[in-house]
Amino acid sequence: MNQSSSVYKIRIFLVLGALCLSSSVAVGSELIPVPEFTNHDVPITLPSNPDSPIWEWLNVGLLVIALSLASYLAIVSRSRRGLFALAVASLLWFGFARGGCVCAIGAVQNVTLGMFDSSYAIPWTVIAIFVLPLVYTLFFGRTFCAAVCPLGAIQEVVAVRPVRVPSWLDHSLGLVPYIYLGLAILYAATGTAFIICRYDPFVAMFRMSGNVNMLIFGGSILLLGVFIGRPYCRYLCPYGAILGVLSKGSKWHGRIAPETCIQCHLCENSCPYGAIATPTRPIHKSERVKARGRLAKSLLSVPVLIICGVLVGLLLKTPLSKLDADVRLAERIIQEDAGEVEGMTDASEAFRNTGQPTSALIERAIGQRELFGWLGMALGGWVGLVVGVKFVTLSIRRRRVDYEPDRARCVSCARCYWYCPGEHVRQGLVGDVSQLVSIETTGDPR
Ligand code: SF4
Ligand code: SF4
Repeated sequence: MNQSSSVYKIRIFLVLGALCLSSSVAVGSELIPVPEFTNHDVPITLPSNPDSPIWEWLNVGLLVIALSLASYLAIVSRSRRGLFALAVASLLWFGFARGGCVCAIGAVQNVTLGMFDSSYAIPWTVIAIFVLPLVYTLFFGRTFCAAVCPLGAIQEVVAVRPVRVPSWLDHSLGLVPYIYLGLAILYAATGTAFIICRYDPFVAMFRMSGNVNMLIFGGSILLLGVFIGRPYCRYLCPYGAILGVLSKGSKWHGRIAPETCIQCHLCENSCPYGAIATPTRPIHKSERVKARGRLAKSLLSVPVLIICGVLVGLLLKTPLSKLDADVRLAERIIQEDAGEVEGMTDASEAFRNTGQPTSALIERAIGQRELFGWLGMALGGWVGLVVGVKFVTLSIRRRRVDYEPDRARCVSCARCYWYCPGEHVRQGLVGDVSQLVSIETTGDPR
C-alpha cells in the first residue's frame, strides 16, 4: 500500500470530490425550492411506544447483558455461531420489538443537543445507551457491532455473497461516516434536525410503517449488503466511526489465530469487511527513506487541508442553513413580501396567521445563519483533519508479522477465527493443523 499511497491519495480526493458533487446536487435540488405542503399526504409513521422508566431501565439492563455476552463470545469462546445467534436475538428485540429506538447511533444527537441547549433535558437512559457500547469497545473492541446493534445485525444476516471492495475505494468511502458524524453534530447542535434518525435506512422496516422512500432506501442497502458486507456500517454509520477510533486502543481485542499464526493465508479471504491486516515484507533502506519522505509530506498536508476545509465550510454557511425551519421560513416570507414569488406556502400562511412580527423571525434566522457559519467552519476543519489523518495513516508503514484484525474496521464477527486452522485445533476438531485437508470448504458455520 505504501508504494502506491500517492495513487491512493489521488483516488481518495476523486472519490470525495464525486461524493461532494453528487450530494451538493441532491442538497441543492432538495433545499433550494421552498417545500410546498399543499395536498401533501403525511405518511403514517407509528411512533415508538413511550415506555415507562422501568421499561427504559430494563432495556439498559438488557443492553449490558447483550454487550457482556457478545464480548464473551468474541474474545473468550470465539464462537461464530454464538455471535450469529445473539445478533438474530438483538435484531428481533432491539430492532423489531423496540422499533429500533432509542439506539446508540441516534443518541449521538441527543447528547450533542444536550450539550448545546441547556433547556433540553436528556434522559439518563439515553446517556447510558450512548456510553455503554463505547466503554465496552475500549476494553473488547467493537463487540457492540458484532452482535448487539440491530442495524449491524440485519446486515450481518443478509451478507451471504460478499465480494471484496477494492482497497482504495474502501479507504475513500470509509471517510464518509466521519463526515456524516460532523454533519449530524452540526444539525443537532443548532437544533435543526436529527438527520441520523431522519435518514435511518432500517427504522421503517423495524416499525413496519413509514415513508416509502425510506423503505426503498433500506431495501436497497440490504440488497447491496448481500454482495458488499455491511455497507451501512462501513460507509455511513457515524457511531461506527467513533467505535472504530476507540477500538484502535481496545485492551483485549480478539486475535485471529488462537495461538501462533502459521501464515496459511486462510483467514485472509474470509473477512467480508476488508478488516484483516496482512504481514508486511521487510523493506530496503532506500525504500525506508522514500517512505519517510512520504510521511513528512502527509504530515505537512494536514494543516493545509484543515485550513482549506475551514474556508470551504465558511462558503457552505448558506446552503447548510437552508435545512433550518426558521431560516427557510424567513427566506420565504422575504420573497413573498418582495413579490418575488406568488401565493403563500402552508408554513408562511400559518406563520402570518399567528400575527407574530416578521422582524423577530428574520432576527432569529440571521442568528441561526451566523451559528451555521461558525459550525460550518468547524465542520470543514474536521473534514480536512479526517482526510489529512487518512493520508498520514496510509503513509505509515507498520511492521507486522502475523495476520491481524484491523482494530478500527474489525466488527468482531468471528468469521476469520473459524477459517484459522489453529481454531479447529483449539476446538478439538483435529489433533494438529497438519490433519486439516481443506478448511476452505468448511464455509461460514452460522
Ligand atoms: S457500525 Fe453502526 S450500524 Fe454497524 S453495527 Fe456498528 S453501530 Fe451498528
Ligand atoms: S472478526 Fe475477522 S472476519 Fe470478522 S470483521 Fe474482524 S477481521 Fe473481519
